[in-house]
Amino acid sequence: MNIIIFGPPGAGKGTQAKNLVNKLANFQVSTGDMLRDEIRKDTEIGKKIINNMNDGKFVDDEIVNKLLERIIFDPEKKNKLIFDGYPRTINQAKNLENLLSKSNQKIDYIFFLNVNKNSIIKRLEKRKILEKRSDDEAETILKRYDTYMDITKPVLEYYSKKKNFHEIDGSMEIINIYQKIEEILD
Ligand code: AMP
Repeated sequence: MNIIIFGPPGAGKGTQAKNLVNKLANFQVSTGDMLRDEIRKDTEIGKKIINNMNDGKFVDDEIVNKLLERIIFDPEKKNKLIFDGYPRTINQAKNLENLLSKSNQKIDYIFFLNVNKNSIIKRLEKRKILEKRSDDEAETILKRYDTYMDITKPVLEYYSKKKNFHEIDGSMEIINIYQKIEEILD
């Protein structure tokens, strides 16, 4: 089963992706984690993306799409993908469809965690203290939210017309969000 967890920054995508990984023995595909890893290892990609990431801007589609390709064509991960933070642009959504179709896969469920701006700001401020992420600074949080509204919202409109799209109130407690997801899957 392949699943997309969709939503604004701070919606709880990563947390729910991890819950699903435990339930289904699937693999979490967090492009954010993959990109942070490139920075940590100081790779060529890491050097290219560090400024964008710290600024709350998106990394170029070309770079993210390339990272994704390896995973989609990994036979061990086939039909076991939980996407967290990808796709974020229409170009990425089309790329994902294209790669999945080439590898004989599809998206089975899209879960949209809907959370309003004020809750997001509060959550990410808390996360900053816990995880010390450099892009959880107040100013960067607002930039990331604006980027989401400008660039990712059209992806939401595109997905919301699909049959396998499910909107969930992302302001609920983590456990209640997960229960909703499980109800839909079962
Ligand atoms: P995340 O961990 O998903 O919140 O992502 C953190 C940051 O990584 C984002 O603010 C972007 O700078 C970058 N990023 C993660 N996923 C993508 C993506 N699919 N497309 C472009 N940039 C991304």
